[in-house]
Amino acid sequence: MKEMTDTLTVAQGRAYLAIPGPSVVPDAVLRAMHRAAPNIYAGELIEMTAGIIPDLRRVARTRHHATIYIANGHGAWEAALSNVLAPGDRVLVPATGRFGIGWGEMATALGAEVEVLDFGQSSAMDMGRIAEALAADPGHAIKAVLAVHVDTSSSVRNDLAALRATLDAAGHPALLMADCIASLGCDRFEMDAWGVDVAVSASQKGLMVPPGLGFVFFNDRAAARRRALPRVSRYWDWAPRAEPQEFYQYFGGTAPTHHLFGLRAALDMIHAEGLEHVWARHARLARAIWAAAEVWGQDGPLRLNIADPGQRSAAVTALRLGAPHGTALRGWVERHLGLTLGVGLGMAPPGDPAWHGFFRLGHMGHVNGQMVLGMLGGIEAGLTALGIPHGRGAVEAAAAVIAGVEERAPPG
Ligand SMILES: *Cc1c(COP(=O)(O)O)cnc(C)c1O
Repeated sequence: MKEMTDTLTVAQGRAYLAIPGPSVVPDAVLRAMHRAAPNIYAGELIEMTAGIIPDLRRVARTRHHATIYIANGHGAWEAALSNVLAPGDRVLVPATGRFGIGWGEMATALGAEVEVLDFGQSSAMDMGRIAEALAADPGHAIKAVLAVHVDTSSSVRNDLAALRATLDAAGHPALLMADCIASLGCDRFEMDAWGVDVAVSASQKGLMVPPGLGFVFFNDRAAARRRALPRVSRYWDWAPRAEPQEFYQYFGGTAPTHHLFGLRAALDMIHAEGLEHVWARHARLARAIWAAAEVWGQDGPLRLNIADPGQRSAAVTALRLGAPHGTALRGWVERHLGLTLGVGLGMAPPGDPAWHGFFRLGHMGHVNGQMVLGMLGGIEAGLTALGIPHGRGAVEAAAAVIAGVEERAPPG
């Protein structure tokens, strides 16, 4: 009711899009993209692209192949599947949210026989159940396991090294394929050390570039699978992209010119900061958000979607507030503060009133302490304006985490 009487908004100023992708694009990336069309036959672009490949490998922590597609994450999903699956092949999909289900649906559409192990939306994969599914396949009909590292809908983070150990313990040769679209450049991801055979990512989350580039990383086991397939889609084929004889083969046609300049600038930022530091920064900021959410939840309906901190992503946080508060809060902070929060995804069907009970915070990529404190302060203002009950001291608790004196934060 209070909201209806307060017509003054304080939304003018730099807006903050705090949704889990597309993420905030740094000014350095925007400046790099603001230029005339470059020659695609000779000159700067060609040399620059050759240098991007090893820097992409560094971000994914792999010595193996890195390929670039003009595509969003869905395109990268399809690219990866097209190089390892023939119609009729079986795949196992341990799903922990909407994106796991979605990747499985894409495999179905490509003719695969998909077995989904649905672990719900609030906790990580259960390796015991995956071990059972692998043990039930002594003939090794399952050709690949499609695992989402961080499911952006639920904000679950899965343990890919444990998944690799589960495959090895079962003596199962299925490829381990990982969607690290939300996690790359945010949560620690170690493609080679964790035994990931194929990794899929995209430009618009931790990599801080507008949507439009998809990335597929693959090792020699996956390359051998690709060579054994009877046919591979000409456009999605990763072989010429990984070892191009001509420049156009990197992209199967005209290069994504401006995105490449943006990506060059973004990779420079990541490597100048240091990947370990990038991960630590995301972890610190995420802990600040969790600390605030826990305090709010001490006296009101707000809850973190993932109870176990060890299963939470440092890139995105899904929250439950109860309908209609989630939608009301998003609307209020956008109108009054210029702060845009993410909608709940896959937690309830659109059209179902329960859909309005969820929201998500994106804290991936170009995000620092003052942005997160501003976002949390904005949520605090929204909860207050809307009369939604909440515990006191949330922003203070977050500030303590950001200040590095977490242990002094209020318990909870
Ligand atoms: C964003 C995202 C996708 C989908 O990417 P699009 O670019 O929207 O196609 C898939 N998986 C995960 C984990 C994501 O975060």
